[in-house]
Amino acid sequence: MACHYIVYESSEESFYEICLVCHWQTDSLSKNGYSNINKVYLKIYKCSDFFKSQVDKYSDMYKRI
Ligand SMILES: [Zn+2]
Repeated sequence: MACHYIVYESSEESFYEICLVCHWQTDSLSKNGYSNINKVYLKIYKCSDFFKSQVDKYSDMYKRI
């Protein structure tokens, strides 16, 4: 959801799963983009160094939407 890698076959399957790539747990965001499960704004999470390094690491393994 955060990194747009296709890790799971369906969105049903990915519900409440933690992404193998970026460790983002699937969540429905509030209006301003805040995730209660991940305790961070999605926008901020995607700018973090951890997120970027994970996305780079898996870029050969998974397809991105
Ligand atoms: Zn992800």
